Amino acid sequence: MGKITIAIDGYSSTGKSTIAKKLANALNYIYVDTGAMYRAVTLYALNQNYIGENEDIQSLIVDLPKIDLKFIPNQKLGMSEMYLNGENVEREIRAMQVSSFVSKVATIPEVRHKLVEMQQQMGKDKGLVMDGRDIGTVVFPDAELKIYMTASPKARATRRYKELLDRGEIVSYEEVLENVQKRDFIDSTREVSPLRKAEDAIEFDNSDMGLEEQFERIYDLAQRVIVN
Ligand code: C5P
Repeated sequence: MGKITIAIDGYSSTGKSTIAKKLANALNYIYVDTGAMYRAVTLYALNQNYIGENEDIQSLIVDLPKIDLKFIPNQKLGMSEMYLNGENVEREIRAMQVSSFVSKVATIPEVRHKLVEMQQQMGKDKGLVMDGRDIGTVVFPDAELKIYMTASPKARATRRYKELLDRGEIVSYEEVLENVQKRDFIDSTREVSPLRKAEDAIEFDNSDMGLEEQFERIYDLAQRVIVN
């Protein structure tokens, strides 16, 4: 078999993106972080005052064709960064403020429609690893390999808290845990494409599994599918 599509879904901060990136590198595949796309639309909405203190979802929907999203490779960092209307927003989209509103923005059907279409376009030639919440169920239901990552809320909040501290954000652990739990709730109960395990996805609980072990197992699975 030639190139395949690998879908990695799961709750927030399960380490999906770390594994997905590593896997894409090892296979020489493209990596697409779909969370970054929802985050960039949320940043746009915050900047326009369409969400947050005020709420004007209709104007956000009207503006959707004006929201230009691009992943542009940063050779120095060896990764792609998110650009919103020509501006590098990679850092801003990871801030707590965006995390607080992103799940709400991700419930808007028109937003999902636009982003899912872009994602399907990016993956039309296969050879990519995409992570998110609905990749195996909605974006690429025919993906040859689907992984569903889980970990306890505590393990996830601890990871996310460390990440934010490393980036110099001042947040409390409780705030991070609450955000992770709230997003999980909204993501798994929303009407349009809620987070759920695709029937043919392989479940991975990595609460007590190191990065190397996870990577080796998933890489092995991918090799087996590719060879067959
Ligand atoms: O992956 P990340 O945690 O950065 O995603 C941020 C948010 O974007 C998620 O909590 C979810 O609300 C939304 N999302 C989504 N569908 C995807 C990817 C992300 O609804 N495929």
